[in-house]
Amino acid sequence: MEKRKILVTRPQLPPLNEFIPLLADIWESRWLTNNGKYHQEFEKALAAYLGVPYVCLFANGTLALMAALQCLHIKGEVITTPYSFVASTHALWWNGIKPVFVDIEPGFCNLDPKRIEAAITPETTAILPVHVYGNPCEVDAIQNLADIYGLKVIYDAAHAFGVRQNGSSILNFGDLSIVSFHATKVFNTIEGGAIICHDQKTKRRIDYLKNFGIANETTVVAPGINAKMNELQAAYGLLQLKYFDTVIDARQHITNKYREGLKHIAGIRVLEEMETVDHNYAYFPIFIDVLEFGHSRDDVFEALKKENIFGRRYFYPLISEFPTYRGLASAKNLDIAHEISRQVICLPLYPDLPDEVVDTILSLLRNMAQIQKKKVSVKVLRQSHRK
Ligand SMILES: *Cc1c(COP(=O)(O)O)cnc(C)c1O
Repeated sequence: MEKRKILVTRPQLPPLNEFIPLLADIWESRWLTNNGKYHQEFEKALAAYLGVPYVCLFANGTLALMAALQCLHIKGEVITTPYSFVASTHALWWNGIKPVFVDIEPGFCNLDPKRIEAAITPETTAILPVHVYGNPCEVDAIQNLADIYGLKVIYDAAHAFGVRQNGSSILNFGDLSIVSFHATKVFNTIEGGAIICHDQKTKRRIDYLKNFGIANETTVVAPGINAKMNELQAAYGLLQLKYFDTVIDARQHITNKYREGLKHIAGIRVLEEMETVDHNYAYFPIFIDVLEFGHSRDDVFEALKKENIFGRRYFYPLISEFPTYRGLASAKNLDIAHEISRQVICLPLYPDLPDEVVDTILSLLRNMAQIQKKKVSVKVLRQSHRK
């Protein structure tokens, strides 16, 4: 039998037998989209679950990000990170905004607040940080700069669904946050996303924007777009929410297993757990120091592939290295992001990932480390012979 491919993630689906009655109900009602009953129910359920004031559902995270920028009339230049999924910067481009890349801090790979100030110009209107791998940015430092310079803050929180800091949702920071419910994310509605906002008026405006700007039968109040989530996905999302806590538990179990197994391997760094944070265990990135480990990140990537295990180099290349953006002045001198993007590989992590696969990955990495040790000791032997 052919060995099953192990990919970096595998989407979690709700039980089919629970989805079918909801589908039957939708078939019966013939209400498929446009703020139907499941859409309304899902928005409320999400707000309650996450502990946020208002949720505006979207067809996907990218459209949510584009609408968030529209909602706040962001123009000119926006400071952002090169170390993210490319949609973070594309959303700026589609709004005619110039992205200005600022380097990351090495601890958690998030936008470095200490470097933001130097990138601010009279054209700067906002900061677009990303909670990379679901680890919260330094939100207080970022807000402080935004307050001083009169900038808006929009968080790309595509990875941060369910993450809490000091008991409160990380989605409550900034002017707006966006999440993604894409199939590969920790919480999925197949495709989907949302904007989190703090007040009713902003929610109303966002709801206009995602529906062509239509306020009522005869009034269009803004040049909106079509970015609505449909009823099938909202119903599916309601079921997903029911099981999300068990998904997190399963992810935590695998994460702990990786952490424990990698503890004593020289040259492999993992991200620390943040003490004040309830993590969502969305990703498990490891960072390979080629000199210490004796093999490069790409060696690890290839070695896993031979076992039919497919890690992902999130995030390599950097956004600032793609042809669209590499000409920008700010695409240079991103040394930390550059180095980290050459060290990183995300290991497979999803709720039903078998323990045996984790063990296979761990012993493969341990073996690679052993080979390195032998190489080093052979070198040392040879050198001592020469003396
Ligand atoms: C997935 C992702 C997006 C885009 O979300 P979609 O729902 O796929 O459009 C944006 N930013 C980051 C950081 C992401 O990981």
